[in-house]
Amino acid sequence: MNDLHAARQQVLQRIASSCVAAQRDVQSVQLLAVSKTHPSEMIRQMYVDGQRAFGENYVQEALDKIQQLAGLDIEWHFIGHVQRNKTKHLAEHFDWVHGVDRLVIAQRLSQQRQHERPLNICLQVNIDQQDSKDGCQPAEVAELVHAISQLPNLCLRGLMIIPAAGHHQAFVEAQQLFEQVKAMHQHPEHWDTLSMGMSGDLDAAIAAGATMVRVGTALFGQRDYHRS
Ligand SMILES: *Cc1c(COP(=O)(O)O)cnc(C)c1O
Repeated sequence: MNDLHAARQQVLQRIASSCVAAQRDVQSVQLLAVSKTHPSEMIRQMYVDGQRAFGENYVQEALDKIQQLAGLDIEWHFIGHVQRNKTKHLAEHFDWVHGVDRLVIAQRLSQQRQHERPLNICLQVNIDQQDSKDGCQPAEVAELVHAISQLPNLCLRGLMIIPAAGHHQAFVEAQQLFEQVKAMHQHPEHWDTLSMGMSGDLDAAIAAGATMVRVGTALFGQRDYHRS
């Protein structure tokens, strides 16, 4: 309990220092606690400590935890690879899906969302052209934003990237792309999320303009390598 509290305070402090260094408002960066592979009891403890947004990567594992923690006011984010045959679970049980990179996935999520609130999504971009990576190409972003914005049960909030480790220039490029879309967006007030930065590079991501950092290891400790 105390370990989790101390780890969270340390991460919040890192976020605050990075914001000060970048002359940004501390409130402009949200912490998403990435709880994949860790038991729901740890999520509960961090919730009691004040954390509300949690990110999961594996659908079945996440559904189990969502059920175990039903009743807590948690905002659930899916940050893993989105498989076409799993969209229904995501549409029904999550508040956010970060890894949308194709129109058909967005269409399915919209059709399958039966909820008074829209599903928040981010468009995942393969910003640094990694071969084996999910994400659309930067050149596809404008068209996808246009098409996804027409879908009724979604709210497209921004971009998500997972650059290669140490490739901080990718954060700067993502921020430029984010601003380009904002400038041509019909509802720029809905385009407010740049999801980038993890335990090892959240400082560089915040310097480049991240509004949501996805942090696992620095909060919960090392994961079992089989599943990380
Ligand atoms: C696991 C994961 C994270 C958290 O990574 P850490 O290095 O443990 O902070 C963030 N984003 C995505 C997409 C992940 O899969």
